[in-house]
Amino acid sequence: MDLKKIDLDFVLHTYKRNYVNFKRGVNATLFDENENDYIDFTSGIGVVSVGHGNRRLANRICEQAKNIIHISNLYLIEPQTLLAKKLVELSGYDMRLFFANSGAEANEGAIKIARKYGEENGEVKRYKIITLKHSFHGRTITALKATGQEAMHTYFGPYPDGFVYAKDIDSIKDLLDDKTVAVMIELIQGEGGVEPQDIKKVQELSKILKQKDILLIVDEVQTGIYRTGEVLASNLYEIEPDIITLAKGLGGGVPIGAIMTRLKDIFSFGDHGSTFGGNYLSCSAANEVLDILEELKSSGDLDERMLYFEDRLNEVYKRHQNIFIKSVGLGFMRGLRVKSAQIQNDIIQKAFEKRVLVLKAGRNTIRFLPPLTISKEEIDEGIKRFEESLKGLNSQ
Ligand SMILES: *Cc1c(COP(=O)(O)O)cnc(C)c1O
Repeated sequence: MDLKKIDLDFVLHTYKRNYVNFKRGVNATLFDENENDYIDFTSGIGVVSVGHGNRRLANRICEQAKNIIHISNLYLIEPQTLLAKKLVELSGYDMRLFFANSGAEANEGAIKIARKYGEENGEVKRYKIITLKHSFHGRTITALKATGQEAMHTYFGPYPDGFVYAKDIDSIKDLLDDKTVAVMIELIQGEGGVEPQDIKKVQELSKILKQKDILLIVDEVQTGIYRTGEVLASNLYEIEPDIITLAKGLGGGVPIGAIMTRLKDIFSFGDHGSTFGGNYLSCSAANEVLDILEELKSSGDLDERMLYFEDRLNEVYKRHQNIFIKSVGLGFMRGLRVKSAQIQNDIIQKAFEKRVLVLKAGRNTIRFLPPLTISKEEIDEGIKRFEESLKGLNSQ
């Protein structure tokens, strides 16, 4: 069976896929149909936070699936209730949650919260939302418009009004006016280049926004759920956002998104909803993911593995100063910057040939998002293969 041909014949061509056929996975290792092993430094773009084939997660999903998968939000959903409580307790923020199915959808909900807040608070109706250049907030029409990459806005208009792009954190304050209701940022731009925002600048911005009653929305779709070492990157930055969005790592691969907000009573019945959001299956999975990661964190294992990975990666960076111009990122969200998009593509391709999976970010960053449960052996093997893939590279 020519799966590649069937795929090209029947699936829309939105992704330039690599046609390797993975058949099984164990933690950070994937096996193709010929049992070749690959080290996975991508975790399905930051999703498979507890690794592939995780038994605890699989058992929880299986037990839940055999019982109830879905009943709708018209009734109490115990795993959803408990998940909301757990996320509030782990984050330490006094908030309520809404559950969606993806990052884009969580951001749409966050924007709706901000717009309703702007409708009800202030002398004039406030609707403007400031986002950053090179940001990424999702693919639905509004989340796409919130995304500060004009190249992605070529088709699909007209878009909803009211989005303004700031060059960087510093320039946000110059754009605030009496129509501004919110600022939406990623603390580390995942798709935009993995450069962490400066902590002091973010804290300063947060203070200014509070004074002006402008909401701070932190898109933690990629940075959230222990990716940077803390439950939320907002914890690491010691800020108190008004709204936080989550998705990728939360369900360990089961689709789920979440909006957390301190505006506990912003929505009235009927203001927002989701058929699938917060169902038994996805929330059970997320509860198990959080249990696993909470244990990994409190045992000290998570921090140890993150440091180990950082050290190994920085050694590669130092040994190849002719190729890399900067080492960026935090925790298990890291990047190595190269000189051009050409080198970026060459490295990703060569790494694949050496059987280690890495991602791109922006136009010249190699991005690493390993499962948070990755073992030291897997880190060593992946780094070794990555370094081999740099041999003979034309770095100019
Ligand atoms: C991936 C991502 C999104 C979009 O999430 P989807 O689940 O693909 O809709 C939004 N924001 C950030 C920061 C992301 O990394």
